[in-house]
Amino acid sequence: MSTHRCDIAIAGGGPAGAFAAILLARAGYDTTLIDSGTSPDRIEGLSPRVVDTFRRSDLDPAVLAIGPRLPRRSLWSGKTDSGNGEHIVSRRRFDQALRDAAADAGAGLITTRAERLTAAAKGASVRLADGSTIEARLVIEARGRRAPMAAGRLRGPATIALSGFTTTTPGATPATAVIPVPEGWIWCVDDGDGKRWLQLSADADAITDAGSADALCRRMLDDDTVIAAIGPTETDFSPALHRGTDSVLVAPEFDPKLPRIGDAAVALDPLSGHGMFFAVSSALAMVPIADALLNGDAETIDYARRFYADRIVGTFYRQVRVGRDFYRLEERYAEEPFWAKRRDFPDDMPAYGVVTEPQVSIAVVVEDNRLVEREILVTPDHPGGVARVAGVPIVAALRELAAAETPIQESDPPLISGADRAQTAAVIAWLAERGLAGGADVRPIEGGRKV
Ligand SMILES: Cc1cc2nc3c(=O)[nH]c(=O)nc-3n(C[C@H](O)[C@H](O)[C@H](O)COP(=O)(O)OP(=O)(O)OC[C@H]3O[C@@H](n4cnc5c(N)ncnc54)[C@H](O)[C@@H]3O)c2cc1C
Repeated sequence: MSTHRCDIAIAGGGPAGAFAAILLARAGYDTTLIDSGTSPDRIEGLSPRVVDTFRRSDLDPAVLAIGPRLPRRSLWSGKTDSGNGEHIVSRRRFDQALRDAAADAGAGLITTRAERLTAAAKGASVRLADGSTIEARLVIEARGRRAPMAAGRLRGPATIALSGFTTTTPGATPATAVIPVPEGWIWCVDDGDGKRWLQLSADADAITDAGSADALCRRMLDDDTVIAAIGPTETDFSPALHRGTDSVLVAPEFDPKLPRIGDAAVALDPLSGHGMFFAVSSALAMVPIADALLNGDAETIDYARRFYADRIVGTFYRQVRVGRDFYRLEERYAEEPFWAKRRDFPDDMPAYGVVTEPQVSIAVVVEDNRLVEREILVTPDHPGGVARVAGVPIVAALRELAAAETPIQESDPPLISGADRAQTAAVIAWLAERGLAGGADVRPIEGGRKV
């Protein structure tokens, strides 16, 4: 059987793998993307910051088949909130467009199943369904929820999403809606032309066969609040797609031989609305991580490990705790089994560390596409820390402002060192919003390193 060689092979061409392939190919790596092409089509919503990430990476949302931002109505806790919005995609078209963009960027595409990923003393390999092998200096695991779980995984309550199309009266404004019900919650997307996508999230234990799934959907859709919000649903609605949606920390440890991105590392409950953002942001970090693993010394490889612990594992805990707090907000159903289970996972810790005043910490951050160790400013509204504001290292700026004999201004010299007038203005405005305009003698976080 044949062997193909490349710098980087990526198993899985969903948003994480395909976006990583684009960025790695652009960075000059000989990249091969392997996708089975078997992912089912479905409708999902992208948060506006996912679309911004693509724009900043010179990817046109229209070419990626990303729809316009639709208003999102939430009926959580019995209150109507219409402040948010999301961009709707057909995952088949969107994923294919991303893979096409990867090919345009110079990545090789192989449509087949990646059977097995194996680390070797030097590099790693992928065995394909036809028995051939890809040998690479680095293999990235991006097979989403189909990737094997690593040791020490942590899994939330077993949850399932039942989805499919139905019809409604044409002429409504295209919009999405989120509606909680006693047995779970419903996400509904109306295209305005009478086509409606329904996604019903429920406890996986509530379903034993197709008949019980249909019966569960009927109960959820016939709930009075649902009928009041989106009207009655056709009696023959039967979900075409059943997908597991448990929150899973798939790989708590960084594997420098087979690094993971997207759902292959951290798979989130769709309630978070964070899944696709995590997929693309973990792909963004892959260029500096690949540089560290392929060309770096022991220190930069340690940076990659710390970055994973902080940004990847940290995202899991933050997002599941945010989700837990969101489930807790829905007090009407607190005693229902679906809601009771989700109010307690993963623990009772706050979603964000309790930060009462600005502090300085040290973290590994991405700077000019490299992993570097930097001081970060941790504030009550940025508990994860900020390294730069308007491109200016914020901790150094804060110290300079505190030490300045005459106030540093945004319009006249003196400006913050290394910053132009616009950057100085942006930094001062950002600090003023946090009551720090005059600088601050910020204290290091107890114990030194945060990550
Ligand atoms: C029901 C549901 C609804 C969701 N809704 C939203 C939403 O509205 N908004 C949001 O932001 N997130 C949502 N998410 C989360 C989002 O879908 C994922 O976070 C995102 O798709 C992760 O991207 P990925 O590339 O890591 O994995 P995936 O999208 O799963 O991509 C993995 C790819 O690997 C391929 N593959 C798998 N096995 C193999 C193999 N052996 N060989 C080769 N290729 C393989 C698959 O074909 C697929 O293309 C939802 C998730 C679910 C389950």
